[in-house]
Amino acid sequence: MSTESLRIVWVYPDLLSTYGDRGNALILAHRARQRRMPVEVLEVRSDERLPATADIYLIGGGEDGPQALGAQRLIADGGLHRAVAQGAVVFGVCAGYQLLGTSFFAKGTQYRGLELLDLSSDRGPTRAVGELAGDIDPRLGLPPLSGFENHGGRTHLGPEVAPLARVTAGIGNDGATEGAWRGKLLGTYSHGPALARNPALADLLLRWAAGVHQLPPLDDTWSDRLRSERRAAVAAARA
Ligand code: GLN
Repeated sequence: MSTESLRIVWVYPDLLSTYGDRGNALILAHRARQRRMPVEVLEVRSDERLPATADIYLIGGGEDGPQALGAQRLIADGGLHRAVAQGAVVFGVCAGYQLLGTSFFAKGTQYRGLELLDLSSDRGPTRAVGELAGDIDPRLGLPPLSGFENHGGRTHLGPEVAPLARVTAGIGNDGATEGAWRGKLLGTYSHGPALARNPALADLLLRWAAGVHQLPPLDDTWSDRLRSERRAAVAAARA
């Protein structure tokens, strides 16, 4: 960690904050505090400079217009690139995931991404809306991904990134793979918010930031219940 306390930045809440993705910041802070890790959450609006010295950067979903604007401001600001060069953890959801790549489409126009992940997004034939589930890359050692997706984009991965998961329900990147990761950068189409539905993923981000292999376990009864409810809903929809 860069300072005494874990610093979490919620990037551009005025632009990128759809589908309850702010919950990801709340979950991370809560799980850190339960382990007695001092934590600070900074909400940095798009008209402010992005500090480059935080430990974890969270970028949420957004409609096409705010997504394009957010990407342009992040490129112009340069803070996220500096933070990544210093080893920061970045977690992007949906629009916040697409804009980490080389390019994406918004309102029919192709925009430059931040080029932090080797992937690009175009538009799919349909909007992907509904439950999203997948088996996560075994190297990450996490239980299956559970989430909700709502996006028009389709994402194509280059050789420099690995898929986060193999899709078992929903579309994700392209119907086969979902999300991507490289080093301490990770992106997903999962809302829900993702870290409320996937506490082990929240702990992975905390472990990366703290540089530890393990954290004391927490009582995850409520998220386990939510995960099994959603699993049952997917199975019922299939039957
Ligand atoms: N605008 C993007 C798309 O539709 C991202 C949507 C989102 O963040 N939910 O693909």
